[in-house]
Amino acid sequence: MNKYFSNNQSIQFIEFLKSFSDFKISPIGYSENHSPILLIQFGRGDYPVLMWSQMHGNEPTTTYGVKYLLEWIAVNSLSSSENYRDIQTIMSNIQVSIILQLNPDGALLYQRENFNGIDLNRDAQSLSQAESQILYQLHQQQAPALACNLHDQRTVFAAGVGGYPAAISFLAPAADKQRNVTPARAIAMHYIVEMSNHLNQFVPERISRYSDSFNRHCFGDTFTKLGTPTILFEAGFVPGDYQRYTAAQLIYRSLKFLLKTASTSPPTSGTDDTEQYRLIPENKVEYADLLLKNVKVKINDEVRHYQKLYVLLKEQMINQKIFFLPTVDQSDDFVYKKAHFTIDCSHRNPLESISNQNFIQILDADLSQFIQSHLTV
Ligand SMILES: [Zn+2]
Repeated sequence: MNKYFSNNQSIQFIEFLKSFSDFKISPIGYSENHSPILLIQFGRGDYPVLMWSQMHGNEPTTTYGVKYLLEWIAVNSLSSSENYRDIQTIMSNIQVSIILQLNPDGALLYQRENFNGIDLNRDAQSLSQAESQILYQLHQQQAPALACNLHDQRTVFAAGVGGYPAAISFLAPAADKQRNVTPARAIAMHYIVEMSNHLNQFVPERISRYSDSFNRHCFGDTFTKLGTPTILFEAGFVPGDYQRYTAAQLIYRSLKFLLKTASTSPPTSGTDDTEQYRLIPENKVEYADLLLKNVKVKINDEVRHYQKLYVLLKEQMINQKIFFLPTVDQSDDFVYKKAHFTIDCSHRNPLESISNQNFIQILDADLSQFIQSHLTV
C-alpha cells in the first residue's frame, strides 16, 4: 500500500459506489482551486451522522479507513451476503453523510493546508475558505446527531507516559475554555469509551486520547459548542507501518463499530462516561522515528559527533509516492525519549547533510536505503 490517496482515486472510488443503489452521491461545491467536493450518503434513519476526512491534505489514512467502511457496506448490501442484516439495521436506523476528501487540493499536493495555504481546521470561525464554508453549511443543514472529524497523527505519540506508540487516538473536543462536560460532549465521550473497549482486543495499551484544550477555531470544538456530539479520530502508528495500513484498518473497525452502536443503542441523555474516558491514557510526545547512536554528521564542512541523535522521518510526495527523509529538528530533538528503531553508526563514515537554522536533513544514500527497508511491516 502506498499511502498517497490521489484525487483520481477518490473520483474513481465514488464512481464505483454509484453502481450500488444504496449510495446517493451529490456535488456540494468546489474547493478553492475548483476541484469538486462530493457528498456520499446512505441510510434512511432519523439519526444523522456526518463524517469528513482529509481536511488536512497530507492525512490520507482515515480516507482509506472510510473507503474500507464503504466497501464493507457495498459488498454486504446484497441479501445473500454474510453481514446483510447488520447493513439493514444501519440503513434503517441512521443516515450517514460522508465527505471523503474535504481538502482535495491539499490532498493532491500532499500538504496540510488548502490551495491558499490555509489550515482548514483553524478556519471554523472566519470561514474564509470555500471548503470551510461547505462543511459549516452542511452541518447547519443536517443538524447531525453525531459528527466524525477524521485525521492522521504523527508517529511521535505514546499512549500515556512511558506507553507504547499510539495506534489510534480519540478526542471529545471541549465546548468551552473550562472544558465542561456538556451534554454533546458526554455523548462523544460515551462513543469513544465504547470504541476504545472494542479496539482493545486488537491493540491493547495502544489507544489514547488527544489533549482537550479548547480552540474555537477548530471545527470539532465549534460543532461541540453548537451542541453536536463530535469525535476527533487520529489514525496513529504501529512500529514499522509507515504506510499506515494497520492504522487505516483500525479506523475502519472503529467506524464500523460506531455505526453499529449508533444504529442499535445510541446513548440516551444523562449518559456519563467521564470517568472511563479519563482513564484512557493521554497522548505524550516521546518517540522519534529513528535513533542514531555514535554518529558523525558533516554539517557545513564541520563534522559533529553525537552519542545519541533523534531523527524524524519527514514525509515528501514525489510522483504520487511518499518518501521518508531523515531529518533532525534543531528545536525539539531533546523532547524524545526513545525511537521506533535504532541504528548504531560507530562504524559508519560521517553522514552528509544539508541544514539551516531549523533542521538538519541527512542525505546519506546508504542510510536512506537502510531506512526505506525498515518502513514496511
Ligand atoms: Zn489533521
